[in-house]
Amino acid sequence: MDFAKNLDQVIARIEKARLAFNKHHIVQLIAVSKYATIEQIKALYAHGQRAFGENKIQDYQVKSDALANLPLEWHMLGTLQTNKIHKMLALKPFLLHSLHSLELAQAIQARSSYKLKALLQINVSLEESKSGVLPEVALETYHQILQICPNIDLQGLMAIGPQTQETHKIEQAFQIAKDIFDQLPQARVLSMGMSADFEIAISYGSNMVRIGHALFKHA
Ligand SMILES: *Cc1c(COP(=O)(O)O)cnc(C)c1O
Repeated sequence: MDFAKNLDQVIARIEKARLAFNKHHIVQLIAVSKYATIEQIKALYAHGQRAFGENKIQDYQVKSDALANLPLEWHMLGTLQTNKIHKMLALKPFLLHSLHSLELAQAIQARSSYKLKALLQINVSLEESKSGVLPEVALETYHQILQICPNIDLQGLMAIGPQTQETHKIEQAFQIAKDIFDQLPQARVLSMGMSADFEIAISYGSNMVRIGHALFKHA
């Protein structure tokens, strides 16, 4: 399997989008490997990719175990249940993108013996079924976590764009996240953008994109 072409294409598209936004703007690419096999992850690694993301603890554990000899950076992206916190902490993710509530932050705080880097997930699509903190309480929640959870090293925000073909709805959602991000001077990471919408996300200031399909599709 050769994913070099996919990777080159995605990198070229990111490059174009970031230059259009600001030539000093740097965007990190997280390869979302949830549909990929261990061999496919190795193939992408061989082409220079180091940061990978999973959304289920079980898969993350199996893949990171199998690839433990490679210097990979693992990102945890999926909704985390309280009963999986211990397992997640044991895996020592490079960054948890899906801290979706103050309650989850407190549950991690109570169980962690180290400082975990994390992003507060904002529900920018405003659909009840989606996880994340609502925009109107995002700043307050962010500051509460900073105050009462010393074992969580908040680095910024994560958002998932709405699944729609209507570009203006996607733009609206990313604008909401960007506005909150701009009110958090200490925040460094704005994680938004997936295969279908990463160029729009970058045009709204995203500096970390999480891309699965576009990288691992069959060329
Ligand atoms: C699956 C997933 C992605 C990647 O989605 P693609 O459409 O395959 O690029 C990004 N972020 C999260 C949280 C995901 O679960």
